[in-house]
Amino acid sequence: MNGIYIHIPYCRQVCYYCDFHFRVAMRDKAAMLAAMKQEMEYRRNYLRLNGETGRVAADTLYFGGGTPSVLSVGELGMLMREIERHYRLLPDAEITLEANPDDLTDDYLSGLRDLGINRLSVGVQSFHDDDLRRLNRRHTAREAYHSVERAQRKGFGNISIDLMYGLPAMSSDRWRYCLHTAFSLDVPHLSAYHLTVEPRTVFGKRQNKGENFHIAEEDSAAQFDLLADACEAAGYEHYEISNFARTGFQARHNTAYWRQQPYIGIGPSAHSYNGTSRQWNVNNNTRYIELLTDTPKDEQWCEREILSPFDAYNDYILTALRTSRGVRKDEVRQQFGDAFADGFVQQAVKHLRQACIVEHNGSYTLTRKGKFIADGIISDLMMTDDDG
Ligand code: SF4
Repeated sequence: MNGIYIHIPYCRQVCYYCDFHFRVAMRDKAAMLAAMKQEMEYRRNYLRLNGETGRVAADTLYFGGGTPSVLSVGELGMLMREIERHYRLLPDAEITLEANPDDLTDDYLSGLRDLGINRLSVGVQSFHDDDLRRLNRRHTAREAYHSVERAQRKGFGNISIDLMYGLPAMSSDRWRYCLHTAFSLDVPHLSAYHLTVEPRTVFGKRQNKGENFHIAEEDSAAQFDLLADACEAAGYEHYEISNFARTGFQARHNTAYWRQQPYIGIGPSAHSYNGTSRQWNVNNNTRYIELLTDTPKDEQWCEREILSPFDAYNDYILTALRTSRGVRKDEVRQQFGDAFADGFVQQAVKHLRQACIVEHNGSYTLTRKGKFIADGIISDLMMTDDDG
């Protein structure tokens, strides 16, 4: 099945840890929406696989960013009408909007419901006001809590909360408090990310000048353990390294992405994948608008890469190993051939010995220990021409 991703490249203010593509200046918002409409038109055949005719069916639509909730209900409605002109959203499609708590007023929530948005991903990050100030978030902990309650009263049952850990000055007690506050809201999905300091961010620049944002590795590990244990005890399945869900509430859009299903990404910096190639749009708002507004030649607003067998295999390892479904030996053999399957089994031996991976009926999954050092294990399992 197909997914549609719409990147809204605006935020009301800069969170100091954030490395996503966004701009605070929204002067060009109308031109941006027109350009996105244009991109949908030009790329209406992108997901037309196997000679499919008519409007291609999609079962997930995801508004990400940036902050999609900076758009009015009218603007979101315009984008949705445009999407439905080119795609047939299935009746039970998962339609997610990432939102900041301060945007979720009663009226706005009612408008989102009327548009058919049926899942919210709310950027809470912390239930401590001092953390939120340090991260330069716009909302308080209390506002975040009440925004989720308001959304629930408006009928949103499928809500995910984003939280961060590994923050400077975060003790286990403070992290436990964030988790238990999230559980008290009874949301069916949680995403939790360790702070990483990227060079282009405000934290990255401050770190260059000598400020220290790192916490000790044993504290990181303890907070990850606390996260996994607390979520499990509260009835959430740890179905991807950073994601936890109650039964039936795994994020369908992201799960499809982790299973290499095709998706189209619209908007600056958005990525797309159609089974044989991946492409990514220019990550500059002005340039994106210019390239979509002039008569476009050869899709100059994006770059494209045809996937080699090694790229496709590495993408599979990168995404599959992060999930509770894991890497399946038979799947590797079927999709990539004997050389990749045998190479994988051989490479996995040392991680099995170190109890970072377990194997069960041909399915290889990360253990708790392995999840904490997943990036290193994944890069070790990747293959290049030299391994061939
Ligand atoms: S974290 Fe979200 S709201 Fe904050 S700057 Fe990044 S994209 Fe915008």
